[in-house]
Amino acid sequence: GLTVNNLVEWMNNFATKIEQNKQYLSDLDTAIGDGDHGFNMSRGMSAVSQKLSTMPDSITDAFKQIAMTLISTVGGASGPLYGTAFLEMAKKSSSTSDIGELLEAALTGIKKRGGAVPGDKTMVDVWTELVPEVKDHSLTAAKIDEAVAHTKEMVAKKGRASYLGERSKGHIDPGSQSSGYLFKALLETEG
Ligand code: ADP
Ligand code: MG
Ligand code: MG
Repeated sequence: GLTVNNLVEWMNNFATKIEQNKQYLSDLDTAIGDGDHGFNMSRGMSAVSQKLSTMPDSITDAFKQIAMTLISTVGGASGPLYGTAFLEMAKKSSSTSDIGELLEAALTGIKKRGGAVPGDKTMVDVWTELVPEVKDHSLTAAKIDEAVAHTKEMVAKKGRASYLGERSKGHIDPGSQSSGYLFKALLETEG
């Protein structure tokens, strides 16, 4: 199961990917939103890394700290959604440290909080495709890239991109791309 060390390593790796790709994430958001997604996530994940530089006592404690930090620093639509994901993992971690089960609880929380369903061109699309892969221990980098790319052809039904209707087609969803980095970071941590 997931240990505090694994979790901190996963989050630091995610923070690095966000930092390296913040301009790209914001460019994706400029095409179909308001151009801030990379900057929002970068602000949040550097605060998370800072917070985790003091080793938490347990994975539950760590998940709570991550959730609270994201909720108070990221903002926008994505802040409360990522915050909810980590808060749900905090709750679930009292009964399991299985990463597949934790991520499944997170996905349920994201869907409940944002009301998006698969096909709406949101982070829910990437999570829905990849959580079962984590549960089956069959996640690969190629599957992550595929799940992210798949959002390109979708028409947005939730969030700012939905204001564009059909014109949201042809662009990768920024929250799906940042979620792709979260799963890539996990894959590298587990490997
Ligand atoms: P904002 O749109 O408020 O500027 P961000 O740019 O940080 O917030 O985040 C946008 C991302 O949030 C989208 O690309 C999408 O993946 C995700 N998102 C927006 N609304 C929802 C929702 N209702 N459910 C799930 N994800 C959503
Ligand atoms: Mg935005
Ligand atoms: Mg915004």
